[in-house]
Amino acid sequence: MPTFKELGLRAEIVQALDELGFENPTPIQEKAIPQVLDSKKDLIALAQTGTGKTAAFSLPVLQQLDENSREIQSIVLCPTRELCLQIANDMQSFAKFMNLKTVAVYGGASIEGQIRDIKRGAQVIIGTPGRTVDLINRRVLRLQDVQFVVLDEADEMLTMGFKDDLDLILGETPETKQTLLFSATMPTGIKDITKRYMKDPAEVSSGARNEGAQNIEHHYYLVNARDKYECLKRLADVNPNVYGIVFCRTRRETQEIADKLMADGYNADSLHGDLSQAQRD
Ligand code: AMP
Repeated sequence: MPTFKELGLRAEIVQALDELGFENPTPIQEKAIPQVLDSKKDLIALAQTGTGKTAAFSLPVLQQLDENSREIQSIVLCPTRELCLQIANDMQSFAKFMNLKTVAVYGGASIEGQIRDIKRGAQVIIGTPGRTVDLINRRVLRLQDVQFVVLDEADEMLTMGFKDDLDLILGETPETKQTLLFSATMPTGIKDITKRYMKDPAEVSSGARNEGAQNIEHHYYLVNARDKYECLKRLADVNPNVYGIVFCRTRRETQEIADKLMADGYNADSLHGDLSQAQRD
Protein backbone atom coordinates (compact mmCIF):
# COMPACT_ATOMS: atom_id res chain seq x y z
CA MET A 1 0.00 0.00 0.00
CA PRO A 2 1.56 3.36 -0.96
CA THR A 3 1.96 6.20 1.53
CA PHE A 4 0.40 9.64 1.02
CA LYS A 5 3.88 10.93 0.20
CA GLU A 6 4.31 8.28 -2.49
CA LEU A 7 1.02 9.37 -4.04
CA GLY A 8 2.74 12.71 -4.67
CA LEU A 9 1.44 14.87 -1.83
CA ARG A 10 3.56 17.68 -0.42
CA ALA A 11 5.14 17.64 3.04
CA GLU A 12 2.73 20.27 4.47
CA ILE A 13 -0.26 18.13 3.54
CA VAL A 14 1.32 14.87 4.70
CA GLN A 15 2.06 16.51 8.05
CA ALA A 16 -1.57 17.63 8.42
CA LEU A 17 -2.74 14.07 7.60
CA ASP A 18 -0.31 12.71 10.21
CA GLU A 19 -1.86 14.96 12.83
CA LEU A 20 -5.33 13.77 11.83
CA GLY A 21 -4.18 10.18 12.27
CA PHE A 22 -4.59 9.23 8.60
CA GLU A 23 -1.90 6.55 8.19
CA ASN A 24 -2.65 5.09 4.76
CA PRO A 25 -4.77 6.20 1.84
CA THR A 26 -8.15 4.55 1.36
CA PRO A 27 -8.73 2.79 -2.00
CA ILE A 28 -10.53 5.77 -3.56
CA GLN A 29 -7.75 8.10 -2.37
CA GLU A 30 -5.12 5.79 -3.80
CA LYS A 31 -6.80 5.98 -7.20
CA ALA A 32 -8.01 9.58 -7.30
CA ILE A 33 -5.08 11.51 -5.79
CA PRO A 34 -2.37 10.62 -8.36
CA GLN A 35 -4.91 10.91 -11.18
CA VAL A 36 -5.83 14.50 -10.26
CA LEU A 37 -2.23 15.48 -9.49
CA ASP A 38 -0.84 14.14 -12.75
CA SER A 39 -3.58 14.80 -15.24
CA LYS A 40 -5.76 17.70 -16.29
CA LYS A 41 -8.45 15.21 -17.33
CA ASP A 42 -11.90 15.42 -15.81
CA LEU A 43 -12.67 12.66 -13.33
CA ILE A 44 -15.74 10.62 -12.47
CA ALA A 45 -15.43 8.87 -9.12
CA LEU A 46 -17.95 6.37 -7.87
CA ALA A 47 -17.66 6.61 -4.12
CA GLN A 48 -20.00 6.51 -1.19
CA THR A 49 -19.85 8.36 2.10
CA GLY A 50 -17.34 6.75 4.44
CA THR A 51 -14.87 5.78 1.72
CA GLY A 52 -12.66 8.82 2.34
CA LYS A 53 -13.98 10.65 -0.71
CA THR A 54 -13.65 14.12 0.83
CA ALA A 55 -9.88 13.76 1.15
CA ALA A 56 -9.77 12.04 -2.26
CA PHE A 57 -10.84 15.23 -4.02
CA SER A 58 -9.62 17.81 -1.48
CA LEU A 59 -5.97 16.81 -1.19
CA PRO A 60 -4.93 16.94 -4.87
CA VAL A 61 -6.93 20.14 -5.41
CA LEU A 62 -5.47 21.94 -2.36
CA GLN A 63 -1.96 20.96 -3.43
CA GLN A 64 -2.39 22.68 -6.81
CA LEU A 65 -3.82 26.00 -5.61
CA ASP A 66 -1.82 29.22 -5.64
CA GLU A 67 -1.40 30.32 -2.02
CA ASN A 68 -0.22 33.77 -3.13
CA SER A 69 -3.43 34.60 -4.94
CA ARG A 70 -6.67 35.22 -3.09
CA GLU A 71 -8.81 34.65 -6.21
CA ILE A 72 -11.34 31.83 -6.11
CA GLN A 73 -9.55 28.90 -7.75
CA SER A 74 -11.78 26.05 -6.75
CA ILE A 75 -15.45 25.49 -6.00
CA VAL A 76 -16.94 22.41 -4.35
CA LEU A 77 -20.70 21.95 -4.74
CA CYS A 78 -22.64 19.63 -2.45
CA PRO A 79 -26.31 19.04 -1.64
CA THR A 80 -26.74 20.05 2.02
CA ARG A 81 -25.58 22.65 4.54
CA GLU A 82 -24.36 19.92 6.88
CA LEU A 83 -22.16 18.35 4.21
CA CYS A 84 -20.98 21.79 3.14
CA LEU A 85 -19.77 22.61 6.66
CA GLN A 86 -18.19 19.19 7.02
CA ILE A 87 -16.23 19.53 3.77
CA ALA A 88 -15.14 23.07 4.71
CA ASN A 89 -13.90 21.85 8.10
CA ASP A 90 -12.09 18.88 6.55
CA MET A 91 -10.43 21.07 3.92
CA GLN A 92 -9.36 23.59 6.53
CA SER A 93 -7.67 20.83 8.54
CA PHE A 94 -5.99 19.33 5.46
CA ALA A 95 -4.65 22.83 4.65
CA LYS A 96 -3.57 23.55 8.23
CA PHE A 97 0.05 24.15 7.19
CA MET A 98 -0.78 26.01 3.98
CA ASN A 99 -1.82 29.59 3.46
CA LEU A 100 -5.25 28.81 2.02
CA LYS A 101 -8.68 30.14 2.90
CA THR A 102 -11.95 28.31 2.45
CA VAL A 103 -15.44 29.79 2.71
CA ALA A 104 -18.62 27.74 3.11
CA VAL A 105 -21.77 29.22 1.57
CA TYR A 106 -25.13 27.64 2.29
CA GLY A 107 -28.75 28.66 2.80
CA GLY A 108 -30.52 29.04 6.12
CA ALA A 109 -27.77 31.29 7.46
CA SER A 110 -27.15 35.01 7.08
CA ILE A 111 -25.79 35.87 3.65
CA GLU A 112 -24.01 39.02 4.89
CA GLY A 113 -21.35 37.14 6.86
CA GLN A 114 -20.71 34.89 3.84
CA ILE A 115 -20.39 37.94 1.56
CA ARG A 116 -17.87 39.51 3.96
CA ASP A 117 -15.82 36.31 4.05
CA ILE A 118 -15.79 36.02 0.26
CA LYS A 119 -14.73 39.67 -0.10
CA ARG A 120 -11.78 39.08 2.25
CA GLY A 121 -10.49 36.63 -0.34
CA ALA A 122 -10.52 32.83 -0.45
CA GLN A 123 -9.07 30.24 -2.81
CA VAL A 124 -11.80 27.67 -2.15
CA ILE A 125 -15.58 28.03 -1.98
CA ILE A 126 -17.71 25.15 -0.71
CA GLY A 127 -21.34 25.76 -1.51
CA THR A 128 -24.84 24.41 -1.77
CA PRO A 129 -26.25 25.16 -5.22
CA GLY A 130 -29.06 27.55 -4.21
CA ARG A 131 -26.93 29.93 -2.13
CA THR A 132 -24.11 29.76 -4.66
CA VAL A 133 -26.48 30.93 -7.42
CA ASP A 134 -27.73 33.71 -5.15
CA LEU A 135 -24.17 34.95 -4.60
CA ILE A 136 -23.39 34.76 -8.32
CA ASN A 137 -26.51 36.82 -9.09
CA ARG A 138 -25.42 39.39 -6.50
CA ARG A 139 -22.10 39.55 -8.33
CA VAL A 140 -20.21 38.62 -5.15
CA LEU A 141 -19.00 35.23 -6.39
CA ARG A 142 -16.87 35.46 -9.51
CA LEU A 143 -15.89 32.11 -10.92
CA GLN A 144 -13.90 33.11 -14.00
CA ASP A 145 -10.57 32.03 -12.46
CA VAL A 146 -11.79 28.67 -11.21
CA GLN A 147 -9.48 25.78 -12.12
CA PHE A 148 -11.18 22.97 -10.21
CA VAL A 149 -14.87 22.25 -9.88
CA VAL A 150 -15.92 19.40 -7.57
CA LEU A 151 -19.47 18.04 -7.70
CA ASP A 152 -19.84 16.04 -4.50
CA GLU A 153 -22.81 13.69 -4.05
CA ALA A 154 -23.89 14.68 -7.54
CA ASP A 155 -26.71 12.12 -7.52
CA GLU A 156 -28.17 13.69 -4.36
CA MET A 157 -27.96 17.17 -5.90
CA LEU A 158 -30.03 15.98 -8.86
CA THR A 159 -32.56 14.20 -6.62
CA MET A 160 -32.98 17.42 -4.67
CA GLY A 161 -33.79 19.35 -7.85
CA PHE A 162 -30.60 21.38 -8.23
CA LYS A 163 -30.11 20.63 -11.95
CA ASP A 164 -30.87 24.19 -13.14
CA ASP A 165 -28.66 25.70 -10.45
CA LEU A 166 -25.80 23.39 -11.44
CA ASP A 167 -26.26 24.38 -15.09
CA LEU A 168 -26.04 28.06 -14.17
CA ILE A 169 -23.01 27.65 -11.89
CA LEU A 170 -21.05 25.48 -14.32
CA GLY A 171 -21.81 28.00 -17.06
CA GLU A 172 -19.98 30.67 -15.00
CA THR A 173 -16.75 28.67 -14.83
CA PRO A 174 -14.11 28.76 -17.57
CA GLU A 175 -13.77 26.09 -20.27
CA THR A 176 -10.26 25.27 -19.07
CA LYS A 177 -11.29 24.03 -15.62
CA GLN A 178 -10.94 20.45 -14.43
CA THR A 179 -14.20 18.91 -13.20
CA LEU A 180 -14.28 16.15 -10.58
CA LEU A 181 -17.63 14.44 -10.12
CA PHE A 182 -18.22 12.24 -7.08
CA SER A 183 -21.38 10.20 -6.85
CA ALA A 184 -22.52 7.07 -5.03
CA THR A 185 -24.69 5.98 -7.95
CA MET A 186 -24.79 6.66 -11.69
CA PRO A 187 -28.42 7.36 -12.60
CA THR A 188 -29.25 8.65 -16.09
CA GLY A 189 -29.31 12.26 -14.90
CA ILE A 190 -25.68 12.01 -13.82
CA LYS A 191 -24.70 10.43 -17.13
CA ASP A 192 -26.33 13.45 -18.85
CA ILE A 193 -24.27 15.84 -16.73
CA THR A 194 -21.07 13.97 -17.44
CA LYS A 195 -21.80 14.02 -21.16
CA ARG A 196 -22.68 17.68 -21.13
CA TYR A 197 -19.96 19.08 -18.91
CA MET A 198 -17.07 16.66 -18.97
CA LYS A 199 -14.57 15.92 -21.69
CA ASP A 200 -13.31 12.38 -22.02
CA PRO A 201 -13.27 11.85 -18.25
CA ALA A 202 -11.15 9.29 -16.42
CA GLU A 203 -13.12 6.98 -14.14
CA VAL A 204 -12.26 5.54 -10.75
CA SER A 205 -14.38 3.67 -8.27
CA SER A 206 -14.04 2.54 -4.70
CA GLY A 207 -15.69 -0.79 -5.34
CA ALA A 208 -18.50 -2.35 -7.30
CA ARG A 209 -21.21 0.00 -8.51
CA ASN A 210 -24.30 0.59 -6.37
CA GLU A 211 -23.06 -1.66 -3.59
CA GLY A 212 -23.07 -1.20 0.19
CA ALA A 213 -19.83 -0.17 1.90
CA GLN A 214 -17.52 -3.16 2.31
CA ASN A 215 -16.43 -2.48 5.86
CA ILE A 216 -19.94 -2.39 7.27
CA GLU A 217 -21.79 -5.48 8.48
CA HIS A 218 -25.55 -5.28 7.95
CA HIS A 219 -28.13 -6.92 10.24
CA TYR A 220 -31.87 -6.74 10.08
CA TYR A 221 -34.66 -7.81 12.39
CA LEU A 222 -38.22 -8.58 11.36
CA VAL A 223 -40.55 -7.21 14.05
CA ASN A 224 -44.12 -6.05 14.26
CA ALA A 225 -44.60 -2.28 14.03
CA ARG A 226 -45.80 -2.10 17.65
CA ASP A 227 -42.62 -3.84 18.85
CA LYS A 228 -40.18 -1.66 16.96
CA TYR A 229 -39.50 0.76 19.80
CA GLU A 230 -38.94 -2.01 22.37
CA CYS A 231 -36.62 -3.72 19.91
CA LEU A 232 -34.64 -0.52 19.44
CA LYS A 233 -34.22 -0.17 23.20
CA ARG A 234 -33.13 -3.80 23.48
CA LEU A 235 -30.45 -3.19 20.84
CA ALA A 236 -29.23 -0.12 22.70
CA ASP A 237 -29.19 -2.04 26.00
CA VAL A 238 -27.11 -4.94 24.72
CA ASN A 239 -24.66 -2.47 23.11
CA PRO A 240 -24.12 0.00 25.96
CA ASN A 241 -21.47 1.94 24.06
CA VAL A 242 -23.54 2.21 20.91
CA TYR A 243 -23.26 5.46 19.01
CA GLY A 244 -25.83 5.32 16.28
CA ILE A 245 -28.30 6.98 13.99
CA VAL A 246 -31.93 5.93 13.70
CA PHE A 247 -33.42 6.93 10.37
CA CYS A 248 -37.18 7.48 10.28
CA ARG A 249 -39.65 8.11 7.50
CA THR A 250 -41.23 11.28 8.90
CA ARG A 251 -40.18 14.30 10.93
CA ARG A 252 -42.85 13.54 13.50
CA GLU A 253 -41.66 9.97 13.99
CA THR A 254 -38.10 11.23 14.39
CA GLN A 255 -39.19 13.56 17.17
CA GLU A 256 -41.40 10.97 18.89
CA ILE A 257 -38.70 8.32 19.05
CA ALA A 258 -36.11 10.80 20.30
CA ASP A 259 -38.55 12.10 22.95
CA LYS A 260 -39.37 8.57 24.10
CA LEU A 261 -35.71 7.58 24.30
CA MET A 262 -34.89 10.67 26.33
CA ALA A 263 -37.87 10.04 28.66
CA ASP A 264 -36.61 6.47 29.09
CA GLY A 265 -33.19 7.72 30.16
CA TYR A 266 -31.22 7.26 26.92
CA ASN A 267 -28.82 9.89 25.69
CA ALA A 268 -30.57 10.78 22.44
CA ASP A 269 -31.68 13.73 20.36
CA SER A 270 -33.50 14.38 17.12
CA LEU A 271 -32.46 15.94 13.83
CA HIS A 272 -35.08 16.88 11.24
CA GLY A 273 -36.27 19.68 9.02
CA ASP A 274 -38.68 21.25 11.54
CA LEU A 275 -35.76 22.28 13.75
CA SER A 276 -34.20 25.69 13.28
CA GLN A 277 -30.77 25.92 11.64
CA ALA A 278 -29.19 26.74 15.03
CA GLN A 279 -30.68 23.59 16.57
CA ARG A 280 -29.59 21.46 13.63
CA ASP A 281 -26.01 22.76 13.82
P1 AMP B 1 -15.66 10.58 3.87
O1 AMP B 1 -15.93 9.40 3.01
O2 AMP B 1 -14.89 11.65 3.18
O3 AMP B 1 -16.92 11.10 4.52
O4 AMP B 1 -14.70 10.10 5.07
C1 AMP B 1 -15.10 9.18 6.04
C2 AMP B 1 -14.25 9.27 7.31
O5 AMP B 1 -12.98 8.64 7.13
C3 AMP B 1 -13.97 10.68 7.80
O6 AMP B 1 -14.18 10.73 9.18
C4 AMP B 1 -12.50 10.89 7.48
O7 AMP B 1 -11.91 11.77 8.40
C5 AMP B 1 -11.93 9.49 7.59
N1 AMP B 1 -10.78 9.24 6.68
C6 AMP B 1 -10.69 9.60 5.39
N2 AMP B 1 -9.54 9.17 4.84
C7 AMP B 1 -8.88 8.50 5.81
C8 AMP B 1 -7.62 7.82 5.87
N3 AMP B 1 -6.83 7.73 4.80
N4 AMP B 1 -7.27 7.25 7.05
C9 AMP B 1 -8.08 7.33 8.13
N5 AMP B 1 -9.26 7.96 8.15
C10 AMP B 1 -9.68 8.54 7.00
